[in-house]
Amino acid sequence: MKHIRKYLHPIIFLIVFETVAVTLWLTKNNLFYLLNFSYIGFSISLGLFLFIRKYKHARRVVQLLVGLYMLVYLGLICHENMQIEGFWYYLFTGVFEAATIHYAVAKIFGPLIFGRGWCGYACWTAMILDFLPYKVPAQPRKKIGWIRYITFAVSLVFVSALFLAKAGHIERIMFWAFIAGNIAYYGIGIALAFALKDNRAFCKYICPITVFLKPMSYFSLIRVQCKKDKCIDCGKCKRVCPMDVDVTDNSRSRKNGTECILCMECVKNCPKNAL
Ligand code: SF4
Ligand code: SF4
Ligand code: SF4
Repeated sequence: MKHIRKYLHPIIFLIVFETVAVTLWLTKNNLFYLLNFSYIGFSISLGLFLFIRKYKHARRVVQLLVGLYMLVYLGLICHENMQIEGFWYYLFTGVFEAATIHYAVAKIFGPLIFGRGWCGYACWTAMILDFLPYKVPAQPRKKIGWIRYITFAVSLVFVSALFLAKAGHIERIMFWAFIAGNIAYYGIGIALAFALKDNRAFCKYICPITVFLKPMSYFSLIRVQCKKDKCIDCGKCKRVCPMDVDVTDNSRSRKNGTECILCMECVKNCPKNAL
């Protein structure tokens, strides 16, 4: 029982992903879904397991396992546009396929359970940004988060325009949009990280996917909580947080609460094991 409690989070993740994998495999009669979601669930659970075993690079292992799989295999080899444009595209065509399922699981309904775990463990954009030198932001957060709504609107208008113009070869356009979109994300993300001395500046101000992620993760089942009786208010957790979350406040409306990517830096650095 003690072991089950200790490894509860990896077990929950494994069960959730296996449930999705088996359900989609059976309902859509496609083995790909079983392999895909089993692989992702196993990778995330492995990372959480390594974290509990105190392996320093546990999260990076998951980021690389999942991020590279999605970018290289699903995106470049299978030509599946997993960026937000791909989501709009498959949504408009009414096809419930990989990109729409991916968004439903990772970015719309999944965050009700695991918050922004996607951002901490699976996103291939952040997988690269997290290698940059500014792991802890050097400056206070800027009030330019509204930019994300513009990029969100631009992605929607872009795909809508393709449909309204009845553009031919949309599948091909979507593949090249995936390539161009990724180059743009990496270019802007890396430039912003150096300009603002903050690896996660792109996530905080530009990324359109946060328009889905933030409101849903507000209700997240899994969240870092502070044991007030142990906390000595040293402030270390806030200093090491890449997303500026006030993690000592247990309320849902805590400062930048919907920004938490469950990276566990605060937990690792708390001198009193209060998180
Ligand atoms: S905010 Fe966007 S770019 Fe950053 S990790 Fe999340 S999905 Fe990836
Ligand atoms: S690091 Fe731990 S002890 Fe210090 S303020 Fe945060 S929760 Fe409290
Ligand atoms: S350091 Fe803690 S509060 Fe900040 S993003 Fe990571 S898990 Fe969330």
